[in-house]
Amino acid sequence: MNWFGTNVSWVVIVIILVIVLAISLFFPWQKVKNRKQQKSDLINKPIDEKNKNNSESIIPNFMGIYNSIGKSESVRMKKLVYVEPKENSCELCIKYENTVLSLEVIDKNYLTMAEAISNGYHHLGCTHKDIDYYPGDTELKDKFFTQEEQIKFHQLILEQFKLENNIRNIKYDLENKNSKSVSIEDLNKAIEKLDIFCKENNLTRNFSREEPEISDLKKFTK
Ligand SMILES: [Zn+2]
Repeated sequence: MNWFGTNVSWVVIVIILVIVLAISLFFPWQKVKNRKQQKSDLINKPIDEKNKNNSESIIPNFMGIYNSIGKSESVRMKKLVYVEPKENSCELCIKYENTVLSLEVIDKNYLTMAEAISNGYHHLGCTHKDIDYYPGDTELKDKFFTQEEQIKFHQLILEQFKLENNIRNIKYDLENKNSKSVSIEDLNKAIEKLDIFCKENNLTRNFSREEPEISDLKKFTK
């Protein structure tokens, strides 16, 4: 055997391989995986009155002196908001309604705002409001509409946007006289179509959205 001669490089390689193998065998892969899973499974249901004491008792009682804004927590450990339900919610946002989001960069217990936004929440034209959430103090509003009703209503709003867009296009063409194919009659027809659609579906017309010179954001914001 020539341990310290030409074969020494092989011995070093084998030792390194054994060490790498040992580390990969004992590394807690499962723990890392579980932790990721727990986070992605997290549905941030607001804590109701019954079990709030168990789950939010991280804030000790002795800290329960009222603070300047009248909340029973003297120190709010982290910034939390809850998403108020909207009747015309789009599908992207429905899953976040009536849930609590954390404004912290990293949060072990709540889904963060950044994560929700990366999944589509607060998209362009989103009308959802984030309301300050104090566990136990904030009263959550009941959802008085079903998810199907919300999706149906949202579809109606999209249809209204489409009809309004048609009116804007005709008005634009008429004003700029760049198309001989549109006439006042076309405009009246388009307006009538929208008017009937709104009446049939109990929607209110938004006259400012029917003007061609508005920003893209206003075109699609309720
Ligand atoms: Zn939204």
